[in-house]
Amino acid sequence: MPVYKAPLRDMKFLLNEVFDYPRHYASLASGENATPDIVDAILAECGKFCEEVLSPLYQSGDEEGCKLENGEVTTPAGYKEAYNQYMMGGWQGLSAPEEYGGQGLPASMGLLKQEMMGTANWSFSMYPGLSLGAMNTIYLHGSETQKQTYLVPLTEGRWGGTMCLTEPQCGTDLGQVKTKAEPQGDGSYRITGTKIFISSGEHDLTENIVHIVLARLPDAPKGTRGISLFIVPKFLPDASGGVGERNGVSCGSLEKKMGIKASATCVMNFDGATGYLIGPENQGLECMFTFMNTARIGTAIQGVGPAELSYQWALDYAKERRSMRALSGKKEPEQVADAIIHHADVRRMLLTQKAVAEGGRAMLYYAARLADHMVEAHTRGDDRKAEAYDDKLGFLTPILKGFLTELGYECTNLGMQVFGGHGYIREHGMEQIVRDTRIATLYEGTTGIQALDLLGRKVLLMTQGGAVREFTLKVANFARKHLTDKRLRPYAVELLKLTAQWNLLTVRVMLAARKDRDVVSSAANDFLMYSGYVTMAYMWLRQAAVAVDKLDNGGEESGEFYKAKLATTEFYFERLLPRAQTHATSMLSPTRSLMQMDSDHMAFLD
Ligand SMILES: Cc1cc2nc3c(=O)[nH]c(=O)nc-3n(C[C@H](O)[C@H](O)[C@H](O)COP(=O)(O)OP(=O)(O)OC[C@H]3O[C@@H](n4cnc5c(N)ncnc54)[C@H](O)[C@@H]3O)c2cc1C
Repeated sequence: MPVYKAPLRDMKFLLNEVFDYPRHYASLASGENATPDIVDAILAECGKFCEEVLSPLYQSGDEEGCKLENGEVTTPAGYKEAYNQYMMGGWQGLSAPEEYGGQGLPASMGLLKQEMMGTANWSFSMYPGLSLGAMNTIYLHGSETQKQTYLVPLTEGRWGGTMCLTEPQCGTDLGQVKTKAEPQGDGSYRITGTKIFISSGEHDLTENIVHIVLARLPDAPKGTRGISLFIVPKFLPDASGGVGERNGVSCGSLEKKMGIKASATCVMNFDGATGYLIGPENQGLECMFTFMNTARIGTAIQGVGPAELSYQWALDYAKERRSMRALSGKKEPEQVADAIIHHADVRRMLLTQKAVAEGGRAMLYYAARLADHMVEAHTRGDDRKAEAYDDKLGFLTPILKGFLTELGYECTNLGMQVFGGHGYIREHGMEQIVRDTRIATLYEGTTGIQALDLLGRKVLLMTQGGAVREFTLKVANFARKHLTDKRLRPYAVELLKLTAQWNLLTVRVMLAARKDRDVVSSAANDFLMYSGYVTMAYMWLRQAAVAVDKLDNGGEESGEFYKAKLATTEFYFERLLPRAQTHATSMLSPTRSLMQMDSDHMAFLD
């Protein structure tokens, strides 16, 4: 079973040479302690923890899974010890505010940590990941007392958190939520209802679990405007802030699922549990989704991480597995056959994984800088600036989440394909990565919902194409600067054409949607994927531009490293970017072929 190697060289190339994080951190109040030495030390330490502690538990956790006995969930062997190490290392509070026990480092540092942890062992990373969701919600909307009571132990990692949204009848359409919240007259509420698919709903890693629950007050308006948000702890806090009486919330069962088996996905029963309102009445959904964009970048990691992991293992295998001879002549004549890495088709698969993992990582780090600015402005109380950054991020996050998880999943399948039949056999671990990654396009908003959010809300409704215009202007300005270098010119020209086309497509979809409302839904997925391919092309041009400069003038990395960046850029522009044109054609097709068939005529089975 191969192990995970933290790709620190690529991470530092992006941080230091492409996106100039040292200067970025120096410009932030929260960046005061994020000096290059400290950042390097954190990356190295986190990488070591992921390689030595989390990665070895990846396959055993899948084999063993979680168990439910007498209402208690046990995580697989080694998880509790690993979590204790994680907690003692202070990792949960890395980017959390200092006044609540965190280290106050920039939000992007937390994302770097999440990337490494999620790549080494996605199931494990779900536990602290869900706690982060609860922490953000309480930080943004909780009262000072709620912050002292819940945020501090969550930040220390002593308590875990969950997000309880989904119910049997609804996941996407949360306006259908039925869970009830009845006021008790003492400031608390009785919460009654059933939530399904709740990640980390019950487990043995922490001494308490803080559930953030969507529920309806009596006489609340119907739909999304009548939903409120509640804190429902597993154990009610006692007078000293410790763990007190057991609350009326329990795990009814564990979902049996395709992958991430070491992550407990629970049916949670709230039987008159005591809960506390967080944020204003009936504004639960707004609260839940305030500054959700930072969290969504977190989910986009599940596109990049598995592509990276699957690539690392497939690459090792492709260098060792021998089959036939390369078409251009023997490459290893002393061997019985050439290694499969010499075959062009195997290289197509490997380079697709590499281009997506590294291009996707660049997309994440680009967005993470915006997240830092957004958090900084919010902390300073500069709401206008915070909202402006949130809008910029808001445009990118559905692209990141939707596009990267779709491509990440494709890459895990390619990794399995490189292993041939052995990829389908459990011991090699490749089929596990495929199974574990499949969920990424489903939860935290399916790809379809991300696509609607991008095209329907952010592009058409909220900005009438302005979001595309603003972003493409930035891309075009960058491309224009690189027209003169003959090594970059072809990519810069292509990118300029694409920025123009992206705007044109937006206008054409907008006009078509005025005549036929179904156009938004029918074009959304193609629009999202098109946007993703172009955004990734921009990231590859940025990396290529740095590589060219460093090859001429010297940089932190070796010449081979920079040449590999240029070769991957060429591969991306020639072999992956053309897919954007299929999406362009498809998104402009009339809705007729989708909508004309009567639902009853979709199959003739009786
Ligand atoms: C392993 C796992 C962990 C999870 N963890 C959590 C958790 O911690 N907390 C939590 O609350 N939930 C969690 N979920 C739930 C998850 O977020 C939902 O399953 C997801 O949001 C989709 O909702 P749904 O399953 O009800 O699908 P539906 O909403 O029923 O959607 C079904 C299909 O219809 C499409 N669709 C729906 N509406 C539209 C529309 N208007 N236009 C076009 N297409 C549409 C969707 O894209 C999808 O393809 C988890 C789920 C799983 C499987």
